[in-house]
Amino acid sequence: PTGELDGAAAIEVHRAIAELARAAGTSVLLVSHDPAAAAYVDRTVTLRDGRVVEEGRGASRALVVSDSGWVRLPDGLRSQVGIGGRATIAAGTDGLTLTPAAPFPQTAPPAATPAVAPPSDAGWTPATVELRALERRFREPAGTRVVLDGLSHAFAAGALTVVTGPSGSGKTTLLRLLAGLDRPDGGAVVLDGRALAGLDGEALAMTRRERIGVLAQEALLAGFLSARENLALALQIRGRACAATLRRASDLLEELGLADRADHRAATLSAGELQRLGLARALLCGRGLVLVDEPTSRLDRANAELAAGRLALAAARDAQTVICATHDPALIAVAQHELRLSAVAPRATDPDRGRSAQAAPAGGPR
Ligand code: ADP
Ligand code: MG
Repeated sequence: PTGELDGAAAIEVHRAIAELARAAGTSVLLVSHDPAAAAYVDRTVTLRDGRVVEEGRGASRALVVSDSGWVRLPDGLRSQVGIGGRATIAAGTDGLTLTPAAPFPQTAPPAATPAVAPPSDAGWTPATVELRALERRFREPAGTRVVLDGLSHAFAAGALTVVTGPSGSGKTTLLRLLAGLDRPDGGAVVLDGRALAGLDGEALAMTRRERIGVLAQEALLAGFLSARENLALALQIRGRACAATLRRASDLLEELGLADRADHRAATLSAGELQRLGLARALLCGRGLVLVDEPTSRLDRANAELAAGRLALAAARDAQTVICATHDPALIAVAQHELRLSAVAPRATDPDRGRSAQAAPAGGPR
């Protein structure tokens, strides 16, 4: 329930769930990858690859040992002591000790790994994107909500910029304006020196097809097609399906940990797998500009770091200007720039919140 909320809002939601459960005497089953959730629950069951691997009650946690002896090593500890594909085990007085195993002697020389060709020679340059006094307000029955109030910013071309700010501060609104999926009430979005306001719907769609990869908060994928076919479809629509781009699609699936899901139908993928598939599609379709909205909200830590690393690489190697709405520290850590939006002023006539600092323009709902 808290994947797309900022830290403060997540605490409120967790508290409310715990209080309501206790007050109503109700059992609650909470599905989450937010480690902070553990502080509000009585029992934690951790799943990995379809198995229960860890259990916690209060402050105590334990690995689960199955009847047939399976145990899963926690990722952090495993990499900390450098256990790769093999380990040796020895019994001591109070437990078992796992040690990284020395590699087996090579029986054949390893195949030479082909050099990875950066796709930036495919003929695009990073997009330049500028906001000039951008305004967006929403008229609602209860009043006018000013979401973006004269925002100006020049995004660094070929760099990863994170757009941060509390839930409801306008991150999604801004990304939709950048993609030409919404129109501002004032000011301008200038892409490659050209104001989007001058383009009609068809020209905007053409610009997106030519230049922009988009991952919305809800990635829309074709459930009856496989992961690989979803990427092929996106290329086909843009008239760009060829051996080289289909190979790039496969590489992206692999880089985002989806190689073994490539031929499964999207309808059978988990929420996190779908989010990574949507990210792969945005990275595949972007030719200079990649816009992604909370791309790690449904991912566990390890996958969030994978996605963050791949987005950073898109900027550093693939000539993409990457703009990413997020509150995930893993993404903020790898970004070169941060554009922080402040909380939206309450509705101009919101009776609960009193008077707003933002004056409401005259006029009723549109
Ligand atoms: P964030 O992505 O930062 O969480 P959003 O951009 O989704 O925030 O929303 C910012 C504010 O604008 C919220 O208060 C939201 O309710 C409001 N808002 C967004 N889209 C609309 C819309 N189409 N109509 C009315 N209000 C909207
Ligand atoms: Mg949002």
